[in-house]
Amino acid sequence: MHQRTLLSISQSFHQNHLPIHRFSICKSSTRRSLATLPNLPLFRALKDHDPSTLAVVHSPSLRSFTYGDLVADVLHAQDRLLQASKGRRDGLHGERVAFLAENSYDYVVMLLSILASDAIALPLSPAFPAHELKYIMDNSRAQMLVSTERYLDKAHGILQEGLDHEPILDVWGKIKTGAAGVGAVALDGVDVGKKGGMMLYTSGTTNRPKGVLIPQSALAAQAASLLEAWKYTPDDRLLHLLPLHHIHGTINAIITPILSGSSIEFMFPFNPATVWKRLAEPFLAEGTKRSKITFLTAVPTIYNRLLSTFSTLPSDVQDAARIGISPEHLRLNISGSAALPTPTKKAWQDLSNGNVLLERYGMTEVGMALSCGLDFADRVDGSVGWHLPSVEVRLVDTDTNEVIQSDEQLDNSSNKGRPREGEIQLRGPTIFREYWANETATQEAFVDSEEKGKGQWFKTGDVAIRRPVDTAGKGTSGEWAKGPMYFIQGRLSVDIIKIGGEKVSALEVERELLSLPQIAEAAVVGIPSKQWGQKVAAIVVLNAEAATAGRDGRPWGTMDMRRALKDRLASYKIPQVMKVLDGPVPRNAMGKVNKKSLVKEVFGV
Ligand code: AMP
Repeated sequence: MHQRTLLSISQSFHQNHLPIHRFSICKSSTRRSLATLPNLPLFRALKDHDPSTLAVVHSPSLRSFTYGDLVADVLHAQDRLLQASKGRRDGLHGERVAFLAENSYDYVVMLLSILASDAIALPLSPAFPAHELKYIMDNSRAQMLVSTERYLDKAHGILQEGLDHEPILDVWGKIKTGAAGVGAVALDGVDVGKKGGMMLYTSGTTNRPKGVLIPQSALAAQAASLLEAWKYTPDDRLLHLLPLHHIHGTINAIITPILSGSSIEFMFPFNPATVWKRLAEPFLAEGTKRSKITFLTAVPTIYNRLLSTFSTLPSDVQDAARIGISPEHLRLNISGSAALPTPTKKAWQDLSNGNVLLERYGMTEVGMALSCGLDFADRVDGSVGWHLPSVEVRLVDTDTNEVIQSDEQLDNSSNKGRPREGEIQLRGPTIFREYWANETATQEAFVDSEEKGKGQWFKTGDVAIRRPVDTAGKGTSGEWAKGPMYFIQGRLSVDIIKIGGEKVSALEVERELLSLPQIAEAAVVGIPSKQWGQKVAAIVVLNAEAATAGRDGRPWGTMDMRRALKDRLASYKIPQVMKVLDGPVPRNAMGKVNKKSLVKEVFGV
């Protein structure tokens, strides 16, 4: 009943395009004009961008929206949210508003209008089955579920799962033209917007997914930090290829570009041939002269698929695409969310006439934490650079719990002269506040600081080493990009393999495996060993030639792999076992391998 009423509201949404400044709405006890945005950095910037510049383009349909449209539509949608939630004494302050939207302008409007309502924006992945989304709806106790018409069935499917509570369902029609202009836009008082933010669910490899609550102050700090480091500008056109329920697709590729006045072009789901054509288009003799792409942020698997499909393109598209990704045109190409294999980085550089992928490290709980720099010299193979502006970092020895001092590069006693590895712990304004309704997990994730008033350290569960690199870190990419660089060794729980007294980084072994010409994909894991506690095992996908026949007419095998790695890795790091998969290594939407389930599947342990 409830749902039907609200659906009818949605159907009239875009027919009712009355000039927005004619409305006024009740919010708590104060009446305010509709054309009011919260006085927060993101909305201050939104208000000040040139309203005639392009904000969002839907690449396949070419529907495009300016910043003027965006401000008007956000105000309109904000009003709509408040109307739909009418009857709630405190409006939507701090309430979770879940939403389902395609990768498009509609998503951006929903996200910003929820933030503008001082609510907590909870993007749901339309690709998830209804029962998983039911878990998220129940766990977050979302008060509203907003959906575009396209996902109406999905939204109904979630509600039919039988939730623990009764959220309001609001279905929005597709925004086709952008709302009418709004005239002057005012900003709310400074105290408004303190309870809102964003909530993203972790992938939950071991337990049920956890809701990561990122308050708007952390969103603002994360975006400000990226803006300073990567220098987004209004001239940037970012090609958006990522899912929108992860930190990478949202903070790096929506919120920060919007803060900066850049344009976002959505192209999803990822299809390598379509992406190549788009990158090539401005440089084709017969092209439509669409604007060139200047900013690409993606995961290593996307770059790999682009590289492996390049040779299938017609030769004129190949030529134009190479120009499109060259450093003169594609100003910034970033890789992250998983380790970037050196051969991928090298192949991209060769293809693009010298464009170097910039690697960075981040996670849902912290946004981006470490990054290489804009100067090519500061994009060192295998490194994720330095801590980003406003992020504080330390490495903590996981055996002794000692903080590894920044001037202590080598641990000569136990680590035989190699840099000492430790868990990455982070502090500062970019860090999330809590795991929603999970005090135990929140408490376990943080440790107290010694310094008073500095907040707690977040334990990332990732391990890194830090060492100086002669050719990098001179400050040419910014003051933050100075000193020793960080190199990720992997997740403590699955990637740090313990063999007798030695520790092996799965990521280091994967890097070496991937640089062998026979290996297309690799996941290195630890499996139980009676003698040593654990032993190193490799799960690989072979290149076609190696899979059919090696030099002696048999497929490339474990002994060949061991021989090939002999001069590259210490003997205890060389995998003792190798399993060859027929198909690709299973990965999630962000190209990550769930090693716990992979080990179970392949080795049954
Ligand atoms: P998520 O919270 O889903 O974005 O996953 C974050 C995790 O991805 C981190 O804790 C790391 O284990 C991994 N990760 C992110 N960036 C990198 C990187 N550049 N190299 C290696 N691992 C990474």
